[in-house]
Amino acid sequence: MLVISGPSGVGKSTVCKRLLADPRVRFSVSATTRSPRPGEVDGRDYHFVTREWFRERISKGAFIEHAEVYGNMYGTLREPMEAALQRGETFLLEIDVQGALQLLALGEPGIYVFIEPPDFDVLRQRLAGRKTETPEVLERRLKKAEDEWRERFKYNYRVVNDDLERCVAEIRQIAGLDQAAAPRHNV
Ligand code: 5GP
Repeated sequence: MLVISGPSGVGKSTVCKRLLADPRVRFSVSATTRSPRPGEVDGRDYHFVTREWFRERISKGAFIEHAEVYGNMYGTLREPMEAALQRGETFLLEIDVQGALQLLALGEPGIYVFIEPPDFDVLRQRLAGRKTETPEVLERRLKKAEDEWRERFKYNYRVVNDDLERCVAEIRQIAGLDQAAAPRHNV
């Protein structure tokens, strides 16, 4: 299990898309109660579900972790993870910091990678660049990102996303997908 986590706006999904180019890597399709964005496909990007569906699965213990992110529920389903691990695949989770901390607290074996912004100005620019947030929402998100950033020492590895190619190469090496590059910031 390869857990890619970090503050929102840090470039987790771009990093994950690159990691998924490797056929040995399988994406963990999370369930979420948020609506699909243009271009997103149900069952590929997320399982788009209702709050009732989500609550029922929580009560049945179907999630290995779940969290509420900006008013929507997100969760990792246990069953596809167990199937992928049995097949010997690298199961890639792209989840928020709350979710990763839950898995760490449970002692779920895996490689936990925290993606760091090069600095907070860069993160601010990335979040502002989305142009989907009002200044108040942007401030709230930055505050959350700062709080999450303080949790980075709980992870096995921290990788700075200042250069996408290097960041991906470093994670591939950490995950044993590639022995060529040397890690720079492993703890
Ligand atoms: P978005 O709505 O932009 O796709 O995702 C919002 C946040 O939820 C991102 O930080 C993403 O990594 C996180 N996320 C996506 N799936 C899961 C999940 O299954 N569990 C948790 N804890 N976070 C998730």
